[in-house]
Amino acid sequence: ATQFVVDGLKATIEGKEILKGINLSMKGGEIHAIMGPNGTGKSTLASALMGHPKYEVTAGSAVLDGEDLLEMAVDERARAGLFLAMQYPSEITGVTNSDFLRSAINARREEGKEISLIKFIRQMESKMKELDMNPEFAHRYLNEGFSGGEKKRNEILQMMMVDPKVVILDEIDSGLDIDALKIVSNGVNAMRSEDRAFLVITHYQRLLNYITPDFVHVMMQGRIVKSGGPELAERLENEGYDWVKEELGIVD
Ligand code: ADP
Ligand code: MG
Ligand code: MG
Repeated sequence: ATQFVVDGLKATIEGKEILKGINLSMKGGEIHAIMGPNGTGKSTLASALMGHPKYEVTAGSAVLDGEDLLEMAVDERARAGLFLAMQYPSEITGVTNSDFLRSAINARREEGKEISLIKFIRQMESKMKELDMNPEFAHRYLNEGFSGGEKKRNEILQMMMVDPKVVILDEIDSGLDIDALKIVSNGVNAMRSEDRAFLVITHYQRLLNYITPDFVHVMMQGRIVKSGGPELAERLENEGYDWVKEELGIVD
């Protein structure tokens, strides 16, 4: 099974340290949730792992099946099987959704083994149906003029098509109404497999009613300060984060 281990990850933005030593150990088949107050570094963790140039990694490693992702270029990380559904997906004018998807799939494949056009279209159409997406979205420019919910569905479509080993979902629930949330969650649940680990970043417990995590981690001030099972998410929903701060003596 897939194994993903983040060890002592530190990262800075414009010289300011945001991640102060993140440790995380995930196996294929598992769903890990990261919860935490706003501004605590959750999206920074996702971006640093993916290799966003704004974030400078100053220490640590992120080893996926024996290879350190932090030593790879962004496209190599994707090829190695890392996938990030972003909190704020960007719009790309001039690139259609279907062109983008096809190159993302082929980037994961060896040269000469690209997916055939027929097979690609068949797969895309069936996944779009599963996600209850209007077929016209295949031919629209990537995320351009998409509503918040449509962007999130489109991120899940990408995830389904590229078949990654490690999936990071950053606030995939934000901006989704309950019907869209169910569709997106069903999509994620259908992708659970021994070969795939999920890191679900969320501010709210609501998402975790639909995607049941095996582990819940609380992130504060750039560190994972507490880990537990799904009951931890429920307690955070009911009681907020203050009790964690008190328990650990964290002062803002
Ligand atoms: P979260 O996702 O937990 O809400 P973020 O990772 O987005 O938190 O942000 C963590 C901290 O890093 C915040 O204090 C935020 O202001 C800062 N930060 C994030 N991105 C940038 C950036 N591009 N430039 C400067 N500061 C940033
Ligand atoms: Mg935030
Ligand atoms: Mg965030």
